[in-house]
Amino acid sequence: MSKPSKIYFSRPHVTAREIELVTSAIASRRLSGDGDFTRACESKLSTLVGAPVLLTNSGTAALDMAAMLAGLKPGDEVILPSFTFSSTANAVVLRGAVPVFVDVDPGTLNIDPRRTAEAVTPRTRAIFVVHYAGVGADMDAIGAIATQHRLLVLEDAAQALGASYRGRPLGTFGDFAGVSFHDTKNVTSGEGGCLIVNRAGRLGEAEVAREKGTNRKAFFRGEVDKYTWVDVGSSYVPSELNAAFLLAQLERLDEINRERVGQWERYMAALAPLQGTGLLRVPHVPPECVHNGHLFYLLLADARAQSDFIAFMRTREITTPFHYVPLHSAPAGRRYGRVHGSMAVTEDIWQRLVRLPIYPGLGADQDRVLDAIQAWVAAR
Ligand SMILES: *Cc1c(COP(=O)(O)O)cnc(C)c1O
Repeated sequence: MSKPSKIYFSRPHVTAREIELVTSAIASRRLSGDGDFTRACESKLSTLVGAPVLLTNSGTAALDMAAMLAGLKPGDEVILPSFTFSSTANAVVLRGAVPVFVDVDPGTLNIDPRRTAEAVTPRTRAIFVVHYAGVGADMDAIGAIATQHRLLVLEDAAQALGASYRGRPLGTFGDFAGVSFHDTKNVTSGEGGCLIVNRAGRLGEAEVAREKGTNRKAFFRGEVDKYTWVDVGSSYVPSELNAAFLLAQLERLDEINRERVGQWERYMAALAPLQGTGLLRVPHVPPECVHNGHLFYLLLADARAQSDFIAFMRTREITTPFHYVPLHSAPAGRRYGRVHGSMAVTEDIWQRLVRLPIYPGLGADQDRVLDAIQAWVAAR
């Protein structure tokens, strides 16, 4: 019997349109950023979320900008989940501020509002929420805590483009939000991201931070007659090559998200009935959240089941990775951060979580994934 083909966990969806637009960017000889392709992407994204958007060279860069624009200073504290990517906490640490890790809600794996409220001190400046798997954090509760204590809200919406909470797009609840276009995300430019500027009147500052601290953008609009260094910033502008690729992806955002959501629902329909075995649990999406099919995970019984599942799936050439090692227990998390309260949920779930293949073009291979899961369950 020949070996079955490998099923990846994630694959970018590429068509002739990406090649056409990148070719056209090359032909234009305008390769640096903020040209027609960048503006076209920003305009599409801005229409989608209903707020000003600046393209950045990564999701991480957008989160760094968000922390910079929040005016975080050494000694300030920012409350965030431990179950997230390093970038969320790095953005805080790069400002000299202290990440204060709290536990997540066992249903959504998003920041737990009760733990968040308990973690507020006189030094707290902001709450940094993450919308894990493109499912919104509890923004009603987080918004109430932020209002009560006059805190800023920052959103790591890296996984959340096209998802909403009570009908409002994720990425529009915080003062600033970062989205990622890394090639594991729903739409991609290889590496890329964008900053959503929800704070009225702060777009100018964001433009300066993004352009190495200069007022270059204002200069090109004819608002100043020379451009110069006006504030702190860095190089966060992506190349037109990346923007051209991204534009082709954004043209298909609805199509891509629809296909992913279709696969997500298929996993849900097939796997939710297996919860009765006690061997696995499927994701929980609160009724106020519309997700974007970014990822479908399973929570297995324990750490042994996780490694056993991953190894079993690998024998069938199916990639089902685990996810974050909690930041509070990571070497840098211990050095730069602090924990508030019990981390019981985080410490439990990361050892039991596996992610299933989901991407446009997965097609009939989804049957192979489902068959393999059925076989794994049956063998237990
Ligand atoms: C992908 C991701 C990031 C980082 O985005 P990059 O574009 O890879 O820099 C940050 N936070 C979360 C939650 C992510 O999923």
